[in-house]
Amino acid sequence: MAGDLLRGFSTRDAPQTEKIDERQVRNSAGGYVFEIDDWARLRRFLIIGAGGTYYASGKALTKDNAAIVVKLANTDGERLVREIVEISQAGRAPKQDAGVFALAIAASYGTDASRKAALDALQLVCRTGTTLFQFCSYVEQFRGWGRGLRSAVAKWYLDKPVDALAYQAVKYRQRHGWTHRDALRVAHPKTDESARRALFGWIAHPNDETLADESLPALIEAFTIAQTATPKVAMRLIAEHPSMSWEMFPDNVLTSPEVWEALLISKTGLPLGALIRQLPRLTRLELLTAKSPWTAQVTERLTDADALRKARIHPVSVLLAHRTYEAGQSLRGSTSWKPSAKVIDALDAAFYKAFAAVEPTGKRHMLALDVSGSMVSPVSAQIPISCREVSAAMALVIAATEPDVAIYGFATNFRELSISPRQRLADAVRTIEHLPFGGTDCALPFKVARENKWEFDMFAVLTDSETWAGRGHPHSELVRYRKEMGIPARSAVLGMTSTGFSIADPDDPGMLDIVGMDTAVPNLLNEFARG
Ligand code: CA
Repeated sequence: MAGDLLRGFSTRDAPQTEKIDERQVRNSAGGYVFEIDDWARLRRFLIIGAGGTYYASGKALTKDNAAIVVKLANTDGERLVREIVEISQAGRAPKQDAGVFALAIAASYGTDASRKAALDALQLVCRTGTTLFQFCSYVEQFRGWGRGLRSAVAKWYLDKPVDALAYQAVKYRQRHGWTHRDALRVAHPKTDESARRALFGWIAHPNDETLADESLPALIEAFTIAQTATPKVAMRLIAEHPSMSWEMFPDNVLTSPEVWEALLISKTGLPLGALIRQLPRLTRLELLTAKSPWTAQVTERLTDADALRKARIHPVSVLLAHRTYEAGQSLRGSTSWKPSAKVIDALDAAFYKAFAAVEPTGKRHMLALDVSGSMVSPVSAQIPISCREVSAAMALVIAATEPDVAIYGFATNFRELSISPRQRLADAVRTIEHLPFGGTDCALPFKVARENKWEFDMFAVLTDSETWAGRGHPHSELVRYRKEMGIPARSAVLGMTSTGFSIADPDDPGMLDIVGMDTAVPNLLNEFARG
C-alpha cells in the first residue's frame, strides 16, 4: 500500500495552489481559478466600477479593465454600446462612472459605425448634465473633438424639450471641470427655436442683462430670483415652479426648515434620490421626528417600489445611505443628527424593494459568504463599503425571497451565520463586519455540505474568488458533492470585485458567474435555480 505512488496523486485533492485544469489562471492570492470572458468582465466593471482590491491597486485594476473595454470596442463596438446602454438604462450599477467611461472609449475606438452607435447612445447613458460633463472629460482622454463628437453633444442640447434643458442647465451647473457654457462652446448647437436660443445665450452670459430675453424659460427667471431670495420668496418660487429643486437655491436659504417643507410638498423639488441623500439634513432640521407630519410622507415615498425603480435607485446606494443615516453622523463627522427609527425602518424596506420582486423557487439554498481578510476591502473608489458588508446585504435579499435558505460564512473555517432579513439591515451587516479574518478556501461550502450530508439544490457563493488555502478546487468539490449526494446541485458565484477571476467552471452548465451587486441578482439566480 505504501508503495503505490500513483495512489497519492488525485486532481480532486490537489491543493488550490496547483493548476489542475488547462483553463485555469493564477489569481492574486496564488490559487488557481477560472477566468471569466471579456463580456462578463465588462459587466463586472460597469456594475462594480473602478477601484482596487485587497491585492490589486485601483490604478492597476482600472488599467486592466480599460484595456478590456478598448479591446471590446475594437472587436465588437456595437455590442459594447448595447451592453453599456442596457446596464445604464436598467439602473443595474450603483454608480454611473464606469458606464460613462466605457461609452467614451466606445466613442473613440472601433469602426465608424460602432463609434457612431456610441455617440447616438450619448443621451441614453448621459441623462443628466453631470454625466454629460463626465463624458466630455473622459472622452478627451481618448480622442479629439471631431465633427461626430461635437454634433452628438449638440444633439444633447437640441433634442430635449426646452424646459427639460433649462432644468438641466440650472440643476447641474458644473462638474468634472466642465460647465454648460464649455459644452456649448465646443458643440455649437444651432437652433431656430427662440426659447432655446435665449437659453443658450443665458448659459453663455448669465449676468449680461442687455441680453435679457422674454422668451427665456420661466425656470431660468425663477433661478435668477432664487439666488438672492429670502426663505419666504424661496417658498413662493417652489410653489410656483414644481421643477425647482433644492440645488437651485443658495446655502443660506437651505438652512430654513420651511424651505424644505415647501420642497417636500412639491415632491418634484426633492426627487427620490435627493430625498434619500437629504435624510440627515431633514432630520437635523427636525422635520422627521416621530410626531412630524412629514415623517409619514417621507417613509411612504421611500418604500414605494415602483418609484424606487423608476428613479433607478440602486439598493447599494440605499445601503450606503442607510449606514450613514443610522450612524447619526456624516462620514467626516462634521455634522450629526438623531436618527429616526421610522426612517431607518423605511430605508430597510427600501433596500429590499429596490430589487425587482421574484417568485420563490422553493429550492434548498446554501448562501456561503466569503468572510476572509481580502473581503474587507471597499467595493470601489466610489462605494466606501466593504465587499463583506455588501455580500451580507445581498445574502439577505436572497433570504428574503426564498423560504429555504441557510447562511454560512467561510474563510479557512466554516460557520453558520446568525443573520436574517428579519433583523435590521445594519445589525446583520455589522455581524459580518466583526467576524475575525482568515485565509480563503472557496471549496468549503461544497466540502462541508458533502461531509455532513446536507441537502442543497443551489449554492450561492459570494466571493472575490481569491481562493488558495484549500485542498480540493471548488469546481471539483461541487462535482463530488453532486455525485456523492445524488443531487444535481447548481452553484452561482456572486463576484464582488472587478477582477477577471471566478471559481465557476465556465464549461459546467450548473455553475454561473454573476456580478454580486447587480440589481438583477434575484432574477438571474431565480432563473438559474429553476434550470
Ligand atoms: Ca480572501
